[in-house]
Amino acid sequence: MKLKVWGSRGSIPVSDYPDTVWKRTHSLLEDFQQSGMSPDDYLKSKDFTSITGFGGNTTCVQLTTNSGSSLIIDGGSGLRSLGMSQLGGDLGKGKGEAHIYLTHYHWDHLVGLPFYVPFYIPGNKIHVYSVCEDLEKCFEILFQKPYFPVPFNVIKAQITFHQIEPRKPFKIGDLTATPYQLDHPDPCWGLKINGDGKNFAHCVDTEGTRISREKLGEDLPLYQGIELMYFDAQYDFNDHLNKVDWGHSASQIGLDLAMREGIKRVLFTHHDPAASTEQITDMKKDTQRYFIEQRKAKETLFPVEWDFAYDGMEVEI
Ligand SMILES: [Zn+2]
Ligand SMILES: [Zn+2]
Repeated sequence: MKLKVWGSRGSIPVSDYPDTVWKRTHSLLEDFQQSGMSPDDYLKSKDFTSITGFGGNTTCVQLTTNSGSSLIIDGGSGLRSLGMSQLGGDLGKGKGEAHIYLTHYHWDHLVGLPFYVPFYIPGNKIHVYSVCEDLEKCFEILFQKPYFPVPFNVIKAQITFHQIEPRKPFKIGDLTATPYQLDHPDPCWGLKINGDGKNFAHCVDTEGTRISREKLGEDLPLYQGIELMYFDAQYDFNDHLNKVDWGHSASQIGLDLAMREGIKRVLFTHHDPAASTEQITDMKKDTQRYFIEQRKAKETLFPVEWDFAYDGMEVEI
């Protein structure tokens, strides 16, 4: 099973101001001049995201199995690029099928939906899923004047809405997905997805307030037997302590969970729109310090692999 991150930002899409890009380029060129390296060697010696940034599209990921079953989770602004990438295939010819699961209806998870071009191509069959109530109504509102110029009835694809039951599995080709509740001010449903014999856990948006097995209760299976967990780490740890009930977490919370439950790999995501590339890079360094401290203190903790997600990142699960 393959994961592609189309949007890794939370709350609102952002882009670096030209001034920021200019300053970063200037300092890189100065550093390069002093390095005496070839351009290729110099770039390879740098952390990829320290040069490129983490991207600014809001949350949207795509899971694809070896046989081609595919599920899109959330329709943040990253969905626009995903849709463009599909136009060369069946969805561009009006003979395609797509499946989109919505965790909840906060804007950052919906804002890309009106810009998903396959909706406007007759013949396409698009399935939209959510546990949250009033799926059809909440979806149609996005295509309504005066907020958007194209009304819902102009959508040419055949759209089928699926109101999903909590903690009950549903199938998309050879993918099986089961929704579990996350910790968010408005109900938000993560997904445990099984495909190609591997399990993926989508844990965005969540504050991770229920950390113990007892408190997680019937939602504990979301964190067990997982090869890759995609986890909300919008804030650094101190910021997270000051933002109680904002509905977002920190990498240290996700690491604790992963080390205890034996999760093989974690990708931290839903980056704060206010966080610069340098600040997210610092959060990675803090996470590394925390990880080393915890593993030293308790050797039985699982040696989780982890990283911070960026737009366009592809991961084999
Ligand atoms: Zn969000
Ligand atoms: Zn939210």
